[in-house]
Amino acid sequence: MKQYNPMLASPADAPFSSDDWIFEVKWDGIRAISYVNEKLSIRSRNQKELIDNFPELNELKELASNTVLDGEIVVMKDGKPDFQSLIQRMQNIKPGDIVYMSGKFPATYIIFDILEKDGKEMLDIPLMERKSILKNSVKEGKFIVLSLFVENAGEDYYRAVLEKGLEGIMAKKKQSSYEPGKRSNSWLKIKQEKTCDCVIFGYTKGEGNRENTFGSLIMGLYDAAGPVFIGKVGTGFSQEYRENMKQSLDKYKTERETLTGVDMDREITWLRPELVCEVGYQTVTDDGKLRIPVFKRFREDKDPFECTIDQIRPAISDYTAKRNFIRTPEPPMTQEKGMGKTFVVQEHHARRLHYDLRLERDGVLKSWAVPKGIPEKSGDRRLAVQVEDHPLEYRKFEGDIPKGQYGAGTVKIWDKGLYEPINWEDNKIEFIVSGEKMTGLYVLVKFKKAGNNNWLLFKGSD
Ligand code: MN
Repeated sequence: MKQYNPMLASPADAPFSSDDWIFEVKWDGIRAISYVNEKLSIRSRNQKELIDNFPELNELKELASNTVLDGEIVVMKDGKPDFQSLIQRMQNIKPGDIVYMSGKFPATYIIFDILEKDGKEMLDIPLMERKSILKNSVKEGKFIVLSLFVENAGEDYYRAVLEKGLEGIMAKKKQSSYEPGKRSNSWLKIKQEKTCDCVIFGYTKGEGNRENTFGSLIMGLYDAAGPVFIGKVGTGFSQEYRENMKQSLDKYKTERETLTGVDMDREITWLRPELVCEVGYQTVTDDGKLRIPVFKRFREDKDPFECTIDQIRPAISDYTAKRNFIRTPEPPMTQEKGMGKTFVVQEHHARRLHYDLRLERDGVLKSWAVPKGIPEKSGDRRLAVQVEDHPLEYRKFEGDIPKGQYGAGTVKIWDKGLYEPINWEDNKIEFIVSGEKMTGLYVLVKFKKAGNNNWLLFKGSD
């Protein structure tokens, strides 16, 4: 059977309700894809074989045949997944221990997707159809269950899930295909607290009662070019825990500076980047650091190279958070692939008429509201207020946003087409537009004096 990497979810800030989406519990366990034929193999994200540690899951061989399934392994305790027991089970090596622990802390495999059946790939089949194929292909057992989901009522479901003490929910677009190994906007995870899995690159020297342990951990995430510094975490561990932890950390000591861009205000002990920990945080600052990071736990089940920066790059969460998709005709988030360089200007008859300039960039529409309209003559300049990123589908949107909803009023497309960025910096964007009304060189310059989101839009001389 072909090997698959699991599809990943993007983080979103707030729950929403929409007829185009389903909602499931987000389980706190180990993501695992199972390959069921005469032999059963269940593999983690880093392709580690898990079945040897969880022999009770062999039950799956009797409940399904010739399928590839996606799900989460959890160990339940008092009605909630207990990650600590799960990790213990991962660490057992002796057959006797494994058998004993499978009786004491049995695992449950919660299956939510089907990728292959009888040798046929299911990836391009829309999620809702895959769900029904899954239901007909797998029987539930003592240790095998199918994930429940609800349609449309994401906000209510989120509240109910948190009340049960669970971590949060997943939102999945009904029409979405399965994108192996990708972090997609068609799957969103919505949790009360955001967390990410970080690689530990070193620690700073402790002061006061931390003199013998450490001050904080230096964290990084990988992007295409290598590791990126995302901040230090110095809270979330007790004093005893710090002492134990220092011993574990010191096994990875190295003379080499393993991460660049770290502010060196304190002495740093560098570590080989092999340890992964989960860190809670509030938001990401403009310079890409975690705000108010708190250490949660080590994640021995994760591979350092899985710790990529896309974990902390939000989907279009501000956009989603502001809208109720049952009430507004605006599109919810989308799986649509970008064209690369489209632009649109929408005439928006909201409380006050304004023009929304949107430029496609990094899979979203970067957006500005321009109250006085797009400048027409070279030298003209207009205030442009940057607003939340919009999904790509928005470039086709025209319609009436009902009273009481965010941005209530009529939206019409004023101009659209392609643009070419010449220079895209944090404070200045120069671009050439080829639309019907908007053509030639334009420049956006940040106008900090007037407020954080304020820019000036110029028409340049061609
Ligand atoms: Mn607007």
